[in-house]
Amino acid sequence: MTVAGITSVQKEGRVFRPPKGFQKRAHIKSMVTYEKMYRQAYRNPGGFWAKAAKELVWFKPWSKALVWNAPDAKWFVGGKLNVSYNCLDRHLSTWRRNKAAIVWEGEPGDQRTLTYQQLYHEVIRFACVLKSLGVKPGDRVAIYLPMIPEAAIAMLACARIGAPHSVVFGGFSAQALKDRILDAGATCVITSDGGYRRGGIVPLKVNVDESLKGVSIVRHVLVVRRTGTPVSMAPGRDVWLHERIVELAARGKFSCRAEELDSEHPLFILYTSGTTGKPKGIYHSTGGYLTQVSLTCKWIFDLKDEDTFWCTADIGWVTGHSYVVYGPLANGATTFMYEGAPNHPGPDRFWDMIDRHRINIFYTAPTAIRAFIKWGDDHPKKHDLSSLRLLGTVGEPINPEAWMWYHRVIGGGRCPIVDTWWQTETGAILISPLPGATPTKPGSATRPFPGIVPDVVHKDGTVCKPNEGGYLVLKRPWPGMLRGIWGDPERYKKQYYGDFDGIYFTGDGARRDKDGYYWVMGRVDDVINVAGHRLGTAEIESALVLHESVAESAVVGRPDDLKGSAIVAFVTLKGGQTATPELKDQLKAHVGKEIGSIAKPDDIRFTDALPKTRSGKIMRRLLRELATQGEVRGDTTTLEDFSVLEKLRSEEE
Ligand code: ATP
Ligand code: MG
Repeated sequence: MTVAGITSVQKEGRVFRPPKGFQKRAHIKSMVTYEKMYRQAYRNPGGFWAKAAKELVWFKPWSKALVWNAPDAKWFVGGKLNVSYNCLDRHLSTWRRNKAAIVWEGEPGDQRTLTYQQLYHEVIRFACVLKSLGVKPGDRVAIYLPMIPEAAIAMLACARIGAPHSVVFGGFSAQALKDRILDAGATCVITSDGGYRRGGIVPLKVNVDESLKGVSIVRHVLVVRRTGTPVSMAPGRDVWLHERIVELAARGKFSCRAEELDSEHPLFILYTSGTTGKPKGIYHSTGGYLTQVSLTCKWIFDLKDEDTFWCTADIGWVTGHSYVVYGPLANGATTFMYEGAPNHPGPDRFWDMIDRHRINIFYTAPTAIRAFIKWGDDHPKKHDLSSLRLLGTVGEPINPEAWMWYHRVIGGGRCPIVDTWWQTETGAILISPLPGATPTKPGSATRPFPGIVPDVVHKDGTVCKPNEGGYLVLKRPWPGMLRGIWGDPERYKKQYYGDFDGIYFTGDGARRDKDGYYWVMGRVDDVINVAGHRLGTAEIESALVLHESVAESAVVGRPDDLKGSAIVAFVTLKGGQTATPELKDQLKAHVGKEIGSIAKPDDIRFTDALPKTRSGKIMRRLLRELATQGEVRGDTTTLEDFSVLEKLRSEEE
């Protein structure tokens, strides 16, 4: 077995300490506190997480914090609780009753605010409707909605009655929806007549009708009215939400007790982004998940009662589950939701909303940040962003130059940035700064959260030296971890516990520097072997993005007789830049100068756009196939824009 690691070529030495004013008021104020907690949690993980779990309301206490038979974990064994009770009911007896739980803005500019009391009422009604459609504990419910308050309401209503939800991103096609409905075995689908996106209407109900052709397991489709678009309603199967509410209201008061669910009861199924292959149906539990989501949300986002927190993720992704809905609401916080595109009606839409709603904490993805950079600084500069006090990113490694831009232009140089590393599988954030304590370094997700034990290892499991790249693994179970791949326990074992004995393999390559900071270097599937050096994609891409004319880049390997692999870089340029042969040479020389000749691209290809998943992640495997075979054979169901691939393919010819 080879012990070869991944060679690191990155040079990044900048360090940013938490601003004094921020630090003074933060939940976690110093590295001394962090180190102490980390050590305690390391010695006694059960004790650490049990303390966090006690912040939740349990109908019945657990008997054991953890039972671990690798790869199967059970957290808070025997305990009973309900997620919707913890997100709603328990706040109603406090002053938070009339606090905004959700502040929402639709793409056309319409707005809604729901207090905790109002949200509770909406969830109760929704849960009664689901019950009237025969949905029972354990039944799976597919949710295919735009980012409207009903999306959160539907999730909470499912959680209340113990029906695991499977949210499918509203941008997915009928076929992708069908695959997910069938895989999860959903018996009910919740959708709307449409949703607003970039000035148009997404025909959600039409897609549902299409997806259900030949599907017999779905008994009901519950339809929320959003756009007023005429839709066809299949008699006996399809039900309007507002009509059913009127019918039920005529029969008496709405009431729906929160089911007392086992700590291990499945809360939801969610399919991964599909960046590396066919999406996996990940399922999560109730007690462990909520414990970790709630605590990470509070500490990593330094969440306070007076904050308005905006996580821009769609609820179709795990980030939307954990940090738009469950994390903020479990903490009694105000969560902001937006329905539409970031550039509608103009490229300053986000900054306009931050300004008007006085958003305090803003959490988005590197792909969005790179788009903002491309659109230009004028757009954020038109608005007052002084309400912001903390920024966050998630989804991909952030190029240090994009981090610096985010820090300077959006954060005004005063907001800490939390670069949060986690996965659909992990349920909650695992590696991230604590903003009042951790000094940050652009491009590093920094240190693990207390209770989390990552490591960077060689293929044979031996630990890598500082700055030596290797495989990012998790040595211990954590409460928010996936409980499996829906319907496929074998795949679960093989995918995550098949490479290292009893240890979870993340699929990511990383290095840990001498300060114990983690730097994700890209997926190990994407590692490029150049003359015996195994190079991660993120570092080469970051060097390209450092160049003033480059907006975004994706680097892949192509078989080469001499070197093993040649480096091919796909590059998109910033507005106003022209693609010339001279620029290609300049970029090659630039990478050589920044990080060394070993990482110098052999081939640079300019393109208008890169193939991405619908969650905005670069799909290098498609580019690799294109660069190697001249065509794409792999799974493309999660590709955002097929025309990008078509264009790249025609440029190839
Ligand atoms: P699939 O598993 O289907 O290929 P995916 O891995 O992209 O898709 P997600 O669970 O949405 O699906 O993404 C998790 C991955 O995103 C991580 O494994 C990592 O590669 C990347 N990632 C997330 N956050 C960060 C971060 N802060 N820094 C670096 N990489 C990150
Ligand atoms: Mg993954």
